[in-house]
Amino acid sequence: MAVTQGHGNPKWSRDETLLALDLYFTLKGQVPSPKSFEIIALSNLLRSLPYHAEAAKQPTFRNPDGVGFKLMNIRQVATGKGLGNVSNMDRQVWAEFGHRPDELHRITAAIRAGIPVASSGQLPDVDLELQEGRLLTALHLRRERNPKVRGLLFDARRPSGLRCEICELSRPRLEMSMQEAIFEAHHLVPLAEAGERKTRLADLALLCASCHRLIHRMMITRAAPVTIQDVRTMLLPASSTDF
Ligand SMILES: [Zn+2]
Ligand SMILES: [Zn+2]
Repeated sequence: MAVTQGHGNPKWSRDETLLALDLYFTLKGQVPSPKSFEIIALSNLLRSLPYHAEAAKQPTFRNPDGVGFKLMNIRQVATGKGLGNVSNMDRQVWAEFGHRPDELHRITAAIRAGIPVASSGQLPDVDLELQEGRLLTALHLRRERNPKVRGLLFDARRPSGLRCEICELSRPRLEMSMQEAIFEAHHLVPLAEAGERKTRLADLALLCASCHRLIHRMMITRAAPVTIQDVRTMLLPASSTDF
């Protein structure tokens, strides 16, 4: 008998459900055995995301049986047949993406690649608009706002003055505490590649809030990592006063 509940596994989040629906499309609606490569791979991915960190320590959390059941539930929503335990999230995600598999695949590819899919998060409207990447947004923001990460970067830059590494904005006449309100730490290494590795100074760029917002928007649009140089090149030959 498959064991998926027990220990009160948390409900499937939106991002997790998006990943499951994407797999359902990849499998063309045929749900294989929990021992199949595809199901085990998704189970491993979901267990590795520090989204439900405590629950993920339980062996039943998003195990292959659980992933298999989720796919059956999705099939039930998709076909209207079956007696599974369909959740509101399953219905909601199906209503949104059931007929847009390509769009869904673009979004889940971004999730899988660990591309941070939102801006600094100080703008609630942007977060709402980019809700497809909620999971990675949350992880990315947690990482960039970590006081140790900010401290590492700001300590290194203060002696030479704070300056945006994209548009070169600086506000040397402002007190340092005011300057610090304008700038943010941007992490150059995609989350998936960075893993649990400790952040190094070389992994970080100091950006003004608007360039930070811009680079994240470009990542979403391109569904690929974007470098500081990519953004600078895109902005040429406009001068920094155009900002
Ligand atoms: Zn800037
Ligand atoms: Zn960033």
